[in-house]
Amino acid sequence: MTVKKNEIYKSEIIDYTTEGSGVCRIDGMAVFVPNTAVGDIAEIKILKAAKNYAFGKAENILNPSADRCISDCEIFQKCGGCVFRHINYEAELRFKQKRVKDALTRIGGVSSEKIMPIVCSDRADGYRNKAQLPLTLDKNGKIRAGFFASRSHRVIPQNKCALQSPIFNKVVNIFLEWANDEKITVYDETVHSGVLRHLYLRYAEKTDELMVCVVVNADEIKGENRLVKKLKSNLSNLKTVVLNINKEKTNVITGRESRVLYGNGYITDELCGLKFRISPLSFYQVNRDQAEKLYRIAADLAGLKKHETLLDMYCGTGTIGLSMADRVKSLIGVEIIPQAVEDAKKNAQRNGIENSRFICGDAAVAAKTLKTEDLKADCIIVDPPRKGCESSLIGTINELSPKRVVYVSCDPATLSRDVRLFEEKGYIVQQAIPVDMFPRTVHVETVVLMSHNI
Ligand code: SAH
Repeated sequence: MTVKKNEIYKSEIIDYTTEGSGVCRIDGMAVFVPNTAVGDIAEIKILKAAKNYAFGKAENILNPSADRCISDCEIFQKCGGCVFRHINYEAELRFKQKRVKDALTRIGGVSSEKIMPIVCSDRADGYRNKAQLPLTLDKNGKIRAGFFASRSHRVIPQNKCALQSPIFNKVVNIFLEWANDEKITVYDETVHSGVLRHLYLRYAEKTDELMVCVVVNADEIKGENRLVKKLKSNLSNLKTVVLNINKEKTNVITGRESRVLYGNGYITDELCGLKFRISPLSFYQVNRDQAEKLYRIAADLAGLKKHETLLDMYCGTGTIGLSMADRVKSLIGVEIIPQAVEDAKKNAQRNGIENSRFICGDAAVAAKTLKTEDLKADCIIVDPPRKGCESSLIGTINELSPKRVVYVSCDPATLSRDVRLFEEKGYIVQQAIPVDMFPRTVHVETVVLMSHNI
């Protein structure tokens, strides 16, 4: 028997998908039920039935899971940000632990005793030091900031977000007051016209420095000076205001070109005792306190020695490698975004680190070049974006034959795929440590140490 569309069944949620949707089994068939919690017993209406699985909606929770809690956000389950405001943080951590374990054991072939308990975040809210708010017009023609609805480009107007640094709320209000006074047009992606695209905010928590970046579909905006004046007089920690120009028909938020309206165009934060400059286009971990924990874990696993050479692939502004530079003889960083490489070089200088150099380029290409230069890397750290490493890079890393590879990953699935490739080359996973960098979302970071067995 298979489940039928529009029928209602009583069932218990027994698991989550990797996207955080609840899963139950009805007549042996997996049914995906969003916004439910493991342990819920619910009446589930089937919305769509395929041959081997179905999608349902919880019509009525008969017996709520003990993991449930009450969401304190008005737009939860409408906005694409949080997935887990309806279950407590402990339950969320269990989900993340299981997600990493399932991927690494099933796809990566890693034995489960190598996987350590997840390192939790001290703050489950207010941890994000970066906000990118799309701008829109409400029905009264007022400019509003908001958040994209899940899997869509529809903007839900809302000024504050529980995940973000609370200091952003005030900035949003000041900015909107200015934008509405100036009557600046708002970008409409369907017709590719209008000026204001995104309000992009960054905050260096440790140093209390604030960056306001306005992403526009124009080379300049009227009232630029008045914006700077207004922000300056209301925000004592304002360090820089930048206009980012994005005239492309794209859903990439920032354009390549920026013009500084006030300050130096960057802010400086402190991480692992070093100072790092952050430009609008450079990557910087959004959860600063957890980043420190992550880097310390990576450093411990890397087990660096004074005579060794460390290669930091996908280095961004150099944060990982530079935080470990005093433990090694030399450090080489590789990063594809020129502005981030510039930041990395400046970061080295500023912190008086003289044993480092940085290469701007694609990780796979740069690794090949380093191989032809006969580089001997004792330890290689990779920290790629979600899509993971290119397989040719794994081949070249193997040829560079480092004693240890530390893989910092933000996606358990691509991590596990890549770990398998390393294992085929003879590397063995010694330890994997999940780290929760992004509470209330499904995302989870993992640090893996691989080496040849001695
Ligand atoms: N390790 C850094 C940055 C990690 S994010 C940190 O912890 O802060 C991943 C970085 O990889 C980004 O800076 C991104 O610009 C860079 N990147 C993406 N694709 C790349 C590629 N093909 N080659 C080199 N770097 C790349």
